[in-house]
Amino acid sequence: MAVLANRESQLLIDGKLVAGSGGNFQTINPATEEVLGVAADAGAEDMDRAIEAARRAFDETDWSTNTELRVRCVRQLQQVLRDHVDELRELTIAEVGAPRMLTSMAQLEGPVEDLSFAADTAESYQWATDFGFASPMGIKTHRKVVREAVGVVGAITPWNFPHQINLAKIGPALAAGNTVVLKPAPDTPWCAAVLGELIVEHTDLPPGVLNIITSSDHGVGALLSKDPRVDMVSFTGSTATGRAVMADGAATLKKVFLELGGKSAFLVLDDADLAGACSMSAFTASMHAGQGCAITTRLVVPRARYDEAVEAAAATMAGLKPGDPNDAGTICGPVISARQRDRIQGYLDSATDEGGRFACGGGRPADRDAGFFIEPTVIAGLDNNAKVAREEIFGPVLTVIAHDGDDDAVRIANDSPYGLSGTVFSADEERANRAAARMRVGTVNINGGVWYSADMPFGGYKQSGLGREMGLAGFEEYLEMKAIATAAD
Ligand code: NAD
Repeated sequence: MAVLANRESQLLIDGKLVAGSGGNFQTINPATEEVLGVAADAGAEDMDRAIEAARRAFDETDWSTNTELRVRCVRQLQQVLRDHVDELRELTIAEVGAPRMLTSMAQLEGPVEDLSFAADTAESYQWATDFGFASPMGIKTHRKVVREAVGVVGAITPWNFPHQINLAKIGPALAAGNTVVLKPAPDTPWCAAVLGELIVEHTDLPPGVLNIITSSDHGVGALLSKDPRVDMVSFTGSTATGRAVMADGAATLKKVFLELGGKSAFLVLDDADLAGACSMSAFTASMHAGQGCAITTRLVVPRARYDEAVEAAAATMAGLKPGDPNDAGTICGPVISARQRDRIQGYLDSATDEGGRFACGGGRPADRDAGFFIEPTVIAGLDNNAKVAREEIFGPVLTVIAHDGDDDAVRIANDSPYGLSGTVFSADEERANRAAARMRVGTVNINGGVWYSADMPFGGYKQSGLGREMGLAGFEEYLEMKAIATAAD
């Protein structure tokens, strides 16, 4: 696997690495703005061939029923990723701008290890359940329920945690018996394309079972949602795009699984260690420059101690200067593109326009003239109606909001179109649990607990998504259910 120099990645269609009909497009290092190399630029005809290959592999081979083959292939994929993990790490840091320390966690090694869960689940799964005999309508019947793969899955992914999201989709989708067309984000084509190179060389994955289509054109992804040969779309990205995917999928009533945006709240109750909680909140909001859908970006603190909370958050954030993602100590690297940086700056400007102030940060760092960097920023002086409190910024930006007691804190947390995640800090675990129970979100961290794990379901309420990724629930998203009734004597 040649890693970075002059890399020119290809598409994977029907078991072969091929060029894109649209030529190539550049992939950029967000920390330096240098062109790293190029990726194959797929057009509509490439997507058409990929869908056709996936359809054929599903309809005409034993992939969906040969569990032993599928488990072997997923384990082979895991092994080859482990074998190349150091090269993949350098590629990920360069292409994603991911801080090196995160590559030993959710940016790379975590999701590679999580492939075991998909393979183990397929191996031990109860594919058929015997419901025994009954006589509905007076007819003696033997009943069973079998679980089967959904069919051809279109997997559409974003750029912020490309390995985590690509693998959390293709691992369970393949293990469950589906065939897949993966369409990664245009900002991070190599993290997906490299899977194709490794699969062709090192696994028994049959042609057409996994196809990888990189493209500079978002419209090529939309073809997956519209195509009648695709049975399901598994999408992670923004809520706006999720709506488009759902609307496009409606024409063929395909199954749509959506992991979308968030504007999660970190509630500090009045008995909590305020400084410790606010510092943790600031640290989390700065990680990977805030480019995580489940990051808690609203810090909701007791009104009486508002200034103290702002100061504690700012003290931590001011110490987390944006840095070179290659350095082992960097927490906050660059954001992915000039477009994202400018979008974040627009949100920061809106905060001051609405009467807010920066307790630290507030824009681009003065000491970096290359790279798409934004200073970790604490915004104070606004309430939950401010634009920065309502909309997903996807940058290292924390808005501090005052609450008037537990009920009010929960009300503020829920006063959002999103419902992805949340955090509660309290010295009283029962009290924290009471608040957590009323939060309309898919995951809650209490006093620093970690919900991210291969066997735990992840997903959102409200406009943060539909369905769950990871865990048994995530595996079963990729299954249909068939009830079979046989007349018995
Ligand atoms: P995005 O929605 O712009 O793009 C995501 C993917 O969708 C890309 O591959 C893109 O090419 C494709 N796409 C764009 N328009 C499309 C269309 N009309 N039809 C089909 N595909 C289309 O998101 P992004 O900017 O790449 O990623 C950031 C967003 O992703 C944030 O909103 C973040 O919250 C969200 N996200 C959510 C989760 C989660 O699990 N809930 C995880 C990570 C990121």
